[in-house]
Amino acid sequence: PVKVGVLALQGDVREHARVLTALGAEVVRVRRPDELAEVQGLVLPGGESSVVDKLSRAFGMQQPIRAAIAAGMPMYGTCAGLILLADRVADGIVGQETFGGLDITVRRNAFGSQADSFETDLAVPVLGDPSVRAVFIRAPLVIETGADVETLAALDDGRIVAVRQGPLVGTAFHPEVSGETRFHELFLNAVRSA
Ligand code: GLN
Repeated sequence: PVKVGVLALQGDVREHARVLTALGAEVVRVRRPDELAEVQGLVLPGGESSVVDKLSRAFGMQQPIRAAIAAGMPMYGTCAGLILLADRVADGIVGQETFGGLDITVRRNAFGSQADSFETDLAVPVLGDPSVRAVFIRAPLVIETGADVETLAALDDGRIVAVRQGPLVGTAFHPEVSGETRFHELFLNAVRSA
C-alpha cells in the first residue's frame, strides 16, 4: 500500500486518517522531519492556519515541507490546509507564513460571521457524479489564481473553492467530515503516479 502522512500539528487529523485508512493507505501522523521523509504524500488538515504555521516553524517542519513541495510530493490541503498551500494570503495575521506551492491568493474566513459554517452540494467535474456534499467551516476563498492553476470547483456565483496545480490539491471545504472520499482518492492517485 502507499504510505502517506497527515500533518498532525493541529486540526482534524483523525478524520483525514480515517478516510485514508479506509481507502487502503498506510497512514503516518507527521510531526517531525524524519516522519515526513517516510511518506510519499501529505495531507494538510483543517484547523487554524496561523497556529499550524507557528507550530510548523517551532517543530522545524516549514523548510522540510517546502522542500517536499519543491520536489513534487503530492499534497492535499483542506480549509486551513488550503491556506497553508497558498503562495499568498490576503489577510493573514501579522507575520503569518505559508508553505506555498499553489499560485493562488486566498482570503481567510471569507464568508463572514453570518455564514460562518454552511453546507452545499457542489459540482466537481473532475470527480464526476454525484456532486460533492461540501461542508464549509470558517472557510477561506480563492480570490486569485495563476495561469497554471486549475479550478476544480466553484460556488454558483463563480467564487472558487477547489483548485489543483500539478500534484497539489486544495479545497476550502471539508470532504473528510461528510463521508466524501473522492478528493482523497484523487490525492492517492497522484501519489501512486508520482
Ligand atoms: N479559519 C481557519 C483559518 O484561517 C480555517 C478553518 C478551517 O480549517 N475549518 O485557518
